[in-house]
Amino acid sequence: LRKAVIAGNWKMNNTRVETKALIEDLIPLAKDAGCDVVVCVPFTNLETAVNLTKGTNIKVGAQNCHFEAKGAFTGEISASMLTEMGVEYVVIGHSERRQYFGETDATVNKRLKAVIDAGMTAILCVGEMLEDRENGITEELVAMQTKIALGGVSKEDLSKVIIAYEPVWAIGTGKTATADQANEVCALIRATVEKLYDKEASDALTIQYGGSMNAGNAAELLSKPDVDGGLIGGASLKAPDFATIINAAS
Ligand code: 13P
Repeated sequence: LRKAVIAGNWKMNNTRVETKALIEDLIPLAKDAGCDVVVCVPFTNLETAVNLTKGTNIKVGAQNCHFEAKGAFTGEISASMLTEMGVEYVVIGHSERRQYFGETDATVNKRLKAVIDAGMTAILCVGEMLEDRENGITEELVAMQTKIALGGVSKEDLSKVIIAYEPVWAIGTGKTATADQANEVCALIRATVEKLYDKEASDALTIQYGGSMNAGNAAELLSKPDVDGGLIGGASLKAPDFATIINAAS
């Protein structure tokens, strides 16, 4: 029905030399994957990653992208700069961007649209903080993040969107959501998308879980009906661990 997608979010890790080594290790381990495999690398490693993965089943993603086409936006990178390089995916609205770099639901929406307009696939991140969960507002918050991010996105363009549910309290903490918790919120996101579009659109949408997914817990998380893949941080930096997760999704 829908594509399983396993994406590694390397965050601010790996030099070019380290990128080459990790991707060369990963290529043979991932070659028989029954799911889509993506590595989202720092901007400076995109060219290396694209060149090394040519002719393989590994796709390359960036971790952010500005919404304007060009201009006086110091430190930012445009969508066309990414497509020119052969980048096919972009992580949008990661909680670290929201927490540390002032991203809001409104800028996430703009960036998402820029990625789609450029013909790339956006991996849109949503998820609650621990405080939100404790206050019982996880559902409303995640539904709202989803709605605002998808504002102005047509049903047709939704095929260029993957949503990653990443509870902030589970990121880099070793504290994973239980498979049932992950599935519950992924199902809520799907229901939100059904309301915004229709059942056909929500059935086709790939929804990933992210937050301390690793070689040991991936199979259980991925066995859930509404969890269609993973967005993996720490465990994507080790080729054997990432390969185990890829196999669990295949
Ligand atoms: P960890 O897998 O390191 O918890 O990171 C998850 C994440 O933020 C992926 O985008």
